[in-house]
Amino acid sequence: MAGYHSPQLDVAVRLNTNEAPEPPPEEFRRRVAEAATAVDWHRYPERDASALRAKIAAVEGTTAANVFAANGSNEVLQTILLAYGGPGRTALTFEPTYALHAHIARLAGTNVVEVERTDGFEIDPAAASERILAERPAVTFLCSPNNPTGMVESEDLIRAVLDLVTGFGGLLVVDEAYGQFAPWSALELVSDDRPLVVTRTFSKTWSMASARLGYAIGPTWLVSALQAVALPYHLDALKQRAGEIALDYADHMHRRVSALVEERGRVAAGLAELAVDQWPSGANFILFRPRDRSGPEVWQALVDRSVLVRNCASWPRLDGCLRVTLGTPEENSAFLAALAEILEEA
Ligand SMILES: *Cc1c(COP(=O)(O)O)cnc(C)c1O
Repeated sequence: MAGYHSPQLDVAVRLNTNEAPEPPPEEFRRRVAEAATAVDWHRYPERDASALRAKIAAVEGTTAANVFAANGSNEVLQTILLAYGGPGRTALTFEPTYALHAHIARLAGTNVVEVERTDGFEIDPAAASERILAERPAVTFLCSPNNPTGMVESEDLIRAVLDLVTGFGGLLVVDEAYGQFAPWSALELVSDDRPLVVTRTFSKTWSMASARLGYAIGPTWLVSALQAVALPYHLDALKQRAGEIALDYADHMHRRVSALVEERGRVAAGLAELAVDQWPSGANFILFRPRDRSGPEVWQALVDRSVLVRNCASWPRLDGCLRVTLGTPEENSAFLAALAEILEEA
């Protein structure tokens, strides 16, 4: 197997990995520095990250017993697959979607079934139902908003899939890495009598990709299973503190998210003026495809103008597509101007 990579280049405008363009507030930085001096560095950290989980629970409107935290939502996904996937079991994805779902499932020895979306990147409910009932996957993945398309799954679809997997003892994972950008969240469906877990991350909306912190919200029995599987002391002491401190600035986070949602409208309107097709995004990025030029050629021309977007052109099912992360207003304007210039050259 090849590892997962997200290629980086040294450019002025970096819009390729869906990070937040703004850091957390200065006060956060100062408090984390103070917290670092107060850590008992000779002691193992608090194993269950109780304080952090209680604070996440307060922000998300649940209890600490419903929260599992790990080193990025990728480690959350890995822990879910170690507990519920594995040899003799199947994980089901709707492609194209976040590549790590299938990748980590395979690393955990799980059989992977990739179900195709429609040409418009939507999930056809009838086809989904047929495949889920035929495969009876131990783990079914949905991603809403979906990476790399940006599209939001409807509440009806999520409820329908949840009903199906409940019927045969399966688990539904809804990856909400971009949840705060979307109009609706599956969090409201989480309860102890439903096999549903929602994963979220500090990497995107909380402007903390460098910290590697993510979490799951699910039934208490699922959280216990994940804790049984996770390595002891997997969350270091300073990271736990950084996560707790970050949550004191939820209003900053919501303001940054609102600003990005506004920029999303502006960039979508800008793209609509150009010879590209785009998909409706509920996230902090937009998937688009140049109509008359090849994706890789446009990607390279953007790099030549010091603008880096994600080149999805060679990914299965995403022929010719590029994905742009929303940056600061200045970065977005630089992207739109460069793209307009490239497409006008012909
Ligand atoms: C970025 C991303 C993640 C990974 O997040 P980390 O918390 O940084 O590991 C998970 N799921 C999706 C869909 C993502 O786009």
